[in-house]
Amino acid sequence: MPNPFQAVTGPQIAAILVLVTDHPPKKRPDLGQLLPVLVSLVGLCAMPSASAQGAFARLAPLSLTAGFTGPRARLTKDWVGRTSLAAQTPILVLAGHADSQGIAGAGTSGAAVALRGAAPMQADIQDELFWNLRTAAAVVALGRSRGLEIQLYVPPVRDIANGNDPRTNWSIGKAFAAAGGYALEIHYDAYGPDGVGSGLMPPINRPFSQLDESLALAFGGYPRLFRGGLGAPKRGIAILEIGKLEGQLEASLRDPRRREASIAGIAERIVAALELGLGINPPPGAVGSEPSGPGPQASSGGG
Ligand SMILES: [Zn+2]
Repeated sequence: MPNPFQAVTGPQIAAILVLVTDHPPKKRPDLGQLLPVLVSLVGLCAMPSASAQGAFARLAPLSLTAGFTGPRARLTKDWVGRTSLAAQTPILVLAGHADSQGIAGAGTSGAAVALRGAAPMQADIQDELFWNLRTAAAVVALGRSRGLEIQLYVPPVRDIANGNDPRTNWSIGKAFAAAGGYALEIHYDAYGPDGVGSGLMPPINRPFSQLDESLALAFGGYPRLFRGGLGAPKRGIAILEIGKLEGQLEASLRDPRRREASIAGIAERIVAALELGLGINPPPGAVGSEPSGPGPQASSGGG
């Protein structure tokens, strides 16, 4: 599949991208064939069942416990992703609020800054964007190392008032998704009662996919019309809320001794979910891969 991004944008913006890797991912379908089983397990009830989540955990053990990112959204996931996507589907990763600093929709400042008076991680941007940028870059670097066709877009300026300006996340992500790619915008949710929790808001302008389903298994799922349908999902861009920017998650990110491991663990959970959703088996030795040798069947927990 041609890179859909290059078909729809000018060279000056393309230069900002981390370019698509030259080596296409190797398809190892044995793991991907299990996803429909997980999807059907999930489909039996609106929320992911314990057995489905257990199966996912065995398929792609997380380097961080599920609790690391705090509470999942306690809202009904009223959709199931069944449409399969090609393993070579291009993925575009965006950092939420990278085009809206100092204007409406700048993102959360996080509990440390807002409630305890801590210094922002970077003076001119909200803490959420600081972590969105770090996380998005880590996901792309790890995904490329694992052979995914994955790239990063970061707008050239931080305050673009018109959401339909061609340089915004919305415009770039919408065009990418319309051309057949999967656009994923990284967010951290608000602290306290304003935040909902970790989870995926899938694109709502096309059939829900197994990639949507895989990300929801790993992080939780929001209702299809959360707040009436937000601007990004309406444009075909998935929003992934990693977790509320408070508590253990925020403390681990802010602690210089734990920061890199925390970002790496979150990136591993996302990339493992991308691989599962695209039917790609993670390579031997990856954090998310199974140990070699005989083991329990992944489907043994059904019922
Ligand atoms: Zn956000």
